[in-house]
Amino acid sequence: MDTLPPSTRGEELISSDPATGEEVGRVRVTTAGELDRMVERAWHAFHNSGWKALLPHRRALVLQAIADGLVAEKEALARLQMRDNGKPLAECRAMVESAIGTFRYYAGVCETIETDVTPPRGDYVSFTLLEPFGVVACITPWNSPIMNDATKVAPALAAGNAVLLKPSEDSPLLAPELARIARQAGLPEGMLQVVQGKGAEIGAALVAHPGVRMISFTGGTVTGRAIGRVAGERLVPAALELGGKSPHVVFADADLDHAVAAVVAGIFGSAGQSCVAGSRLLIEASVYDDVLRRVVARAETLRVAAPDAEGVEMGPLASFHHRDRVIRFVDRARAEGGRILCGGCVPDGAEYARGAYYLPTVIDGLGMDSLTCQEEAFGPVLVALPFKDEADLIAQANDTAFGLACGIWTESFKRAWRIGRALEAGSVWINTYKQSVTTTPFGGFKNSGIGREKGIDGLRLYAQVKSMYFGL
Ligand code: NAD
Repeated sequence: MDTLPPSTRGEELISSDPATGEEVGRVRVTTAGELDRMVERAWHAFHNSGWKALLPHRRALVLQAIADGLVAEKEALARLQMRDNGKPLAECRAMVESAIGTFRYYAGVCETIETDVTPPRGDYVSFTLLEPFGVVACITPWNSPIMNDATKVAPALAAGNAVLLKPSEDSPLLAPELARIARQAGLPEGMLQVVQGKGAEIGAALVAHPGVRMISFTGGTVTGRAIGRVAGERLVPAALELGGKSPHVVFADADLDHAVAAVVAGIFGSAGQSCVAGSRLLIEASVYDDVLRRVVARAETLRVAAPDAEGVEMGPLASFHHRDRVIRFVDRARAEGGRILCGGCVPDGAEYARGAYYLPTVIDGLGMDSLTCQEEAFGPVLVALPFKDEADLIAQANDTAFGLACGIWTESFKRAWRIGRALEAGSVWINTYKQSVTTTPFGGFKNSGIGREKGIDGLRLYAQVKSMYFGL
């Protein structure tokens, strides 16, 4: 079985289907010389294609046409993503829908970008304008390629920039499709180009390139820190969307049926390969045994199957080498003294033999100071802990370096408000989990990131403010 990182053969990256190990496609790796030429082409397009000067409603028309192009190829794109990274087909379809919504939303936003005018103060008037940076780098992870690409590319283009999009070497196939669809939709040549290859090589070269004026990154915290260092040295802005270890909190007064269903979906959806996976389950002590028993019972009956199988609830992990990381994570949890209540291994059976499958895993018996509770598994691994009162809950929930999201289940509005305000997280879900809309900003506290994507904040990331004064 292939347990090596994504294979490169000569100058090619090969994507293989984690459900079968079969090759899905290959792309050429971008060389350093090609990167230089791409940056030049991007600047040329920025200055000469007319995109920056285009009236906002004309730019909006192209973004809408990109959305239409995605609609026309929705099923093919969803299936390509399914084979590229193994997520269930229904989830892949939802991600293409999300990408479509993002292009439509920023088409609308384009039309409403307004200039602020300060009325005359004596003998002058001032205007505040939003201007593009020029050439920006958008770097995305492998877990939801089409959705993450759209979340960056749509607002970056809406703000008038030329984009160099670098997808993960583990899921390289969707970004070229997006660039092709954008080109067919009328986006000028050179305004969206795809850089392919390994992060430590071409990714690092992209971030350090003097022609890149802004960096938008989604990925792991260690990489984010490295990119932030380079950006700091170069004094270019870097928006960083990073990892999480989000607490999912269940109080005794909650609607426990809904809470249990949401806890299970919150961690095992996308096989836990979601930055907002609710990977720490905090249960009020009086209902700890009951809730944990129900969560384990549901986790044990989740249908783990091929991503396009009937009724599939969890597919394989995105790659064999990522599954190796998850195996090591759970082995370490055992070594730390964790009790594996379900899963904790690769499933048996012929249907799993060729794929990167791992069973939904629930662990308890560990303290919040364990590495299992502190580090992101980015896989189907849930660790459960009891809490005795609100103060204990807040202390435990905030006791990690991350601060991306949290979920709170309680029937008390006042308690939900108190706890929601007290938890260090960029997104707080109360009596729901993992909801996301394009209009609402998203991003992390603490080591989970800097900056906010989505909504108007998501556009402002890609714009710099210019103030102009006119003497009267
Ligand atoms: P990663 O950090 O390994 O890689 C992300 C991207 O960065 C890839 O394209 C990679 O090639 C590139 N890269 C790696 N090193 C680089 C470098 N030195 N310079 C420039 N680029 C470099 O992350 P991953 O394994 O692809 O994704 C998983 C991580 O992403 C998890 O931690 C997850 O929580 C996080 N994530 C966060 C969000 C969010 O919105 N906060 C969303 C999805 C995933």
